[in-house]
Amino acid sequence: MIGFQGMNVIRWDAHMCLPLHPQASFAPIEELRAAGLNYVSINVGMDMNPVSQILSVIAGYRATIARHPEKFALVSSVADIDRARLAGQIAIGFDLEGAMPLLEQPDMVALYASLGVRQIHFAYNRNNSVADGCHDVERGLTPLGWRMVQAINDAGLLMDCSHTGRRCSLEIMEVSAKPVVFSHANPLALVAHGRNISDAQIRACAATGGVVCVSGVARFLGTPNPTAQDVARHAAYVADLVGVQHVGIGLDIGFSEDGLDDQPPGDFDPSHWWPESAGYASGVSGLCYTPVDTWQKLEAALQSAGLRPDEAALVLGGNMVRVAQQVWPMLIQPD
Ligand SMILES: [Zn+2]
Repeated sequence: MIGFQGMNVIRWDAHMCLPLHPQASFAPIEELRAAGLNYVSINVGMDMNPVSQILSVIAGYRATIARHPEKFALVSSVADIDRARLAGQIAIGFDLEGAMPLLEQPDMVALYASLGVRQIHFAYNRNNSVADGCHDVERGLTPLGWRMVQAINDAGLLMDCSHTGRRCSLEIMEVSAKPVVFSHANPLALVAHGRNISDAQIRACAATGGVVCVSGVARFLGTPNPTAQDVARHAAYVADLVGVQHVGIGLDIGFSEDGLDDQPPGDFDPSHWWPESAGYASGVSGLCYTPVDTWQKLEAALQSAGLRPDEAALVLGGNMVRVAQQVWPMLIQPD
């Protein structure tokens, strides 16, 4: 009954980033709660971050959530999200961007799940031993990658294909026994960028029963100061191509905080992860996102883009609720 009737619409942001620091402020999460969001997936690490940093971040975020039960809830199920909504909390899950933190060990998937990770994609722009990145040489899913997809399916996590090489993503979607999502990706047909996804990828995602969540990142939307209308236009393109039941939102807003250094330790080279040849002239320092209040404007923007109110409700969260209901029940419930 949740999210499908227009009455109790669950609003779901499939990806956003706080500083990767255990002391990161959750003020931006409160802003998202105030803007009407019910669930947000918070990034806890990428391929460039060592496991020591990722575990420290997870511990810090979990402590912050536990200190404010009146505002935040770390969730394991769609029923948890609805309970959080009724209690005035914003529901939170964590996501990993890349398989390197899995240490080539499929058993690590269930360990991260027990810590609150609910969604993983396998490569951050560059190739690794599991999968291809979208800004690297195409090889396809490796034999270890096949086992990792199975581990994701078995552990009840959302299999994500954002940042992944095209051929590799198609192979992941072929292999996965469960619906696959793109938590933050935009149509290549609208904006030619290596991070954006082809019609074939969008069709393959829909064929798994999954959801393409449109991002609010300026360069992927193809406009310097993106608005809710731009996000809605990209969402409407996906809806026209494969049906509105396969469209979601993952704005990928990146919040920074003065005085918090969240760079990976050691000799970190941004130009490797965000190559100039792929259009990242200034790494990600030049990234620009839709503002938080986009969440207050999206419903009207989606309707202006031609969606009926019930269709807009699916895009705002109903579709991700459906997929989570299919995937998450496999989760081993943490204590
Ligand atoms: Zn990302």
